[in-house]
Amino acid sequence: MSALSIRTRLTLWYSGLLLVILAAIGALSYSWLRRTVHQDLDASLLTVARAIRDTGAPDRPEREVEALLREMLGPELYDKFFRLLDPEGRPHPFGSRPRGDALPLSAAARARAARGESTLETVPGPGAEPLRVFTMPIVRNGRVVDIVQVGTSVRRAEAVLDRYLHTLLVLIPLGVGLAALGGAVIARAALRPVDEMTRTARRITAEDLSRRVERPGTGDEMERLALTLNGMLARLEAAFTQTRRFAADAAHELRTPLAALRGGIEVALRAERTPEEYRRVLASSLEEVERLIRLAEDLLLLSRSSAGPDVTRAPVDLEPLLLDVFDVGARLGQGAGVSVRTDAMASATVRGDATALRRALLNLIENAIKYTPPGGKVELGLTTGDGLAVITVSDTGIGLDPADADRIFEPFVRLDAARARDTGGAGLGLAIARSIAVAHGGTLTVESRPGAGSRFVLRLPLAPAA
Ligand code: ADP
Repeated sequence: MSALSIRTRLTLWYSGLLLVILAAIGALSYSWLRRTVHQDLDASLLTVARAIRDTGAPDRPEREVEALLREMLGPELYDKFFRLLDPEGRPHPFGSRPRGDALPLSAAARARAARGESTLETVPGPGAEPLRVFTMPIVRNGRVVDIVQVGTSVRRAEAVLDRYLHTLLVLIPLGVGLAALGGAVIARAALRPVDEMTRTARRITAEDLSRRVERPGTGDEMERLALTLNGMLARLEAAFTQTRRFAADAAHELRTPLAALRGGIEVALRAERTPEEYRRVLASSLEEVERLIRLAEDLLLLSRSSAGPDVTRAPVDLEPLLLDVFDVGARLGQGAGVSVRTDAMASATVRGDATALRRALLNLIENAIKYTPPGGKVELGLTTGDGLAVITVSDTGIGLDPADADRIFEPFVRLDAARARDTGGAGLGLAIARSIAVAHGGTLTVESRPGAGSRFVLRLPLAPAA
């Protein structure tokens, strides 16, 4: 597990996204603030320059101008310096406010002033301190009579912007850090049920499938996950139990004929026997061996057909198949004193494995004859409807309790009535027939009542018309 956990990934994504958003907002707000601050600065330079022009300087005495400006502008004047120049750009004898003579007049600004145009520029002042300078010509009667220059240091505005930038640089990482912390806590809480389920699931082994993961009781995705896992565990448990029982039953079924074989051989070996006696022992041993072979074949057939729909998917015409099964049944019935007949015979084609289907039908008809007393009837029928071929095998035999109707399809299940008759079957016939039906996408069911006969119904999906 070298990859990052979901919790870490969620937190990283979330914090990364937040960082990008906050950085974008910070950059936008900073540039907006910068523009506003500089616009304000320029506007105030303009105001001061206009005020100087309106005082009537330089024709008025300097003191009067100063007083007037103070009255008009108030504190706006404090961080400004200004001077007056004649149209050629020479400083006016009128003088200037302190540091006013430090204001530079660029060639471009002078040229523009001569044309009656104002100029706003940022220039290095004394000590390389950047200055914002506004140069405005005073025009009277269409002639430039004077030039007024107002400047101010940009430093204070820059200081405000720097402070804002520093605040952003501290607050954004702090906010992202706090959000990441909160996000991690929330993600951990949200994913805690998953951790718990993982722990429980890790403790569940094949030996201990009865355990279930705990339901968080939240009614959300986690609860659904827990329910799904538990459903899967229940199915696994059932499948494991079934497999275990199947193995035990199979071993049990194998033991009986093997024990009989051993018993017979042991008795034969205990003393000298005549050839006739040996022959009898060998003959009965052969019977047991044949029973074992049948059982092994049935087990193989069952495991093959329940391994999945691995049947050869060829079209199978059911009518001749049924007639063939009927022939075998009729011969068996003759021996047992049971009359075997055919009922309705539709023609139908399904896709599947003809040999397997024949096996399933033979099992049904053999059972019907086996469990029907002499004088009874067995009927074989084939109809179609709803996209299904419906094959029925009915008998007038001993029937069975509806409570056992599902049980008899399990492997090795034989009802007491069948045991009493000692038919020699191992209880695999119906299990094989049903697993063949299922492998063909069909079903095998039974309707029956004790003493009233049984009716086995095999439904198979019809092959789609070519
Ligand atoms: P078996 O080898 O015992 O016939 P099956 O799997 O074919 O095994 O059948 C399982 C059990 O179902 C039988 O032992 C019998 O009790 C019951 N059964 C099957 N077919 C019939 C039937 N036609 N009438 C009554 N009982 C039946």
